[in-house]
Amino acid sequence: MTLLNIKNLSVNFALPGRTVNAVQNISLNIEEGQTVALVGESGSGKSATALSILQLLPYPRATHPQGSITFKDTELLGAREDTLQKIRGRHISMIFQDPMTSLNPVLTVGEQIAETLLRHTAMNRREALQKSADLLSRVELPSPKEKLQYYPHQLSGGMRQRVMIAMALACAPRVLIADEPTTALDVLIQAQILELLENLKKETGMSILIITHDLGVVAEIAQRVLVMYAGEIVESGPAKALLKSPFHPYTKGLIASIPKLGTKKRPGARLEGIPGNIPSLDQRPSGCPFHPRCSWAMEICKTQNPQLRMIEAQRQVSCHLEPGSL
Ligand code: SF4
Repeated sequence: MTLLNIKNLSVNFALPGRTVNAVQNISLNIEEGQTVALVGESGSGKSATALSILQLLPYPRATHPQGSITFKDTELLGAREDTLQKIRGRHISMIFQDPMTSLNPVLTVGEQIAETLLRHTAMNRREALQKSADLLSRVELPSPKEKLQYYPHQLSGGMRQRVMIAMALACAPRVLIADEPTTALDVLIQAQILELLENLKKETGMSILIITHDLGVVAEIAQRVLVMYAGEIVESGPAKALLKSPFHPYTKGLIASIPKLGTKKRPGARLEGIPGNIPSLDQRPSGCPFHPRCSWAMEICKTQNPQLRMIEAQRQVSCHLEPGSL
């Protein structure tokens, strides 16, 4: 069953004297119990897409998104604030990259988790605090009852992220949006948080939309991947197939730039990377937006932006090259 359906979403930002297009006509589905990864460099439009789902974009700087975002049968784009408030935290929750700036520094951990429960359930304060301790235990935070009294600055980065996950799970949402949830953490804690998300998904049957620039995270956790570049989806498909045999030159570049343990490099050899930088939103190249960085670019790439097309079952790519010719 499809829980979340994004159709032809476009998001513009109004800057002084001009409007820039952050997300262009993207579509994606999230099925019940599925983990979908949205991948790309900073500035590719991933977070703008995620924030659009819960209408958390900074209005009026973000002009009204166009397209459609439905959760089950409810249209979220343009929905009234009271409808959105019933869905946010209750049916769709979000965890952010940096829990230090997302948690309230002057409230204890217990007060912050309990607030979600008091808002969305009929629990009283005592019950909400008891449930908050249970949630902290579920995200494997040691001494959960004691931690209810802590302020965010008294916890490590990994512990704060566990608190954010506990808050997000408080009302047993059907969809969890995780925006770069492990970026600010060291590698060991990153692995623990991913394992925790995976275990919680198995326990609760929720779906996850994970936003990341890290293909290592995708390999760990996602069933389906969508690769974004300059506000567009350039490739999508089942995670295993896409990581094993990417079609789009940008996806190939991202995969080639992952350091691989155990592979011998000649002394002085450099890691492969993608030349250049992602274009800023107001300096989008003509044609295929990846053409200034693409080793396979042809004349047509400078003037015509390729459409996303199906190249095999469940796999789509937007590139003028035929798959197989790379
Ligand atoms: Fe490269 Fe052209 Fe394909 Fe764009 S359309 S990715 S420039 S080959």
